[in-house]
Amino acid sequence: MCIFCRIASGELPASVVYEDEYAMAFIDIQSINPGHVLVIPKNHAASLVDLSPEDAGHMMRVGQIMDKALRKSELRCEGVNMYLADGRVAGQDVDHIHLHVFPRFEGDGFELRIDPGSRKQPGREQLNEDASKLRKGLQKI
Ligand code: AMP
Ligand code: ZN
Repeated sequence: MCIFCRIASGELPASVVYEDEYAMAFIDIQSINPGHVLVIPKNHAASLVDLSPEDAGHMMRVGQIMDKALRKSELRCEGVNMYLADGRVAGQDVDHIHLHVFPRFEGDGFELRIDPGSRKQPGREQLNEDASKLRKGLQKI
């Protein structure tokens, strides 16, 4: 069983914030800011694409609930970031899909920065070609 499945089953400890039949939210042990939670579906899936649409939608619904709770809590929260890494190359370390939800505040020192050099600025023709390739992908789902 994977580490998050073991947390979901109660075998491993976690600081649980929210739980229902399909999902769970618990504090990340290496939090970016206090109140950083991971929302997981209880059904194991390594990738977002392996999740049922219901579980995927529910994970975001719980993410929204966590966003609201953070803003109502005593924790410092002036904004919220959500982050999901789907695949090793995308930065996923734990192979049980999870949504990071963490509070942000002025001067917290966290920066989600995209190196300007890594951003391309293709022309409309290229954008249209990319959109066309993606539409073809859509037809294969
Ligand atoms: P990612 O890099 O998106 O796969 O994120 C994995 C996250 O899981 C990291 O932020 C870890 O700190 C967190 N993590 C790993 N093990 C545990 C655990 N036992 N309890 C809570 N969070 C964990
Ligand atoms: Zn799992």
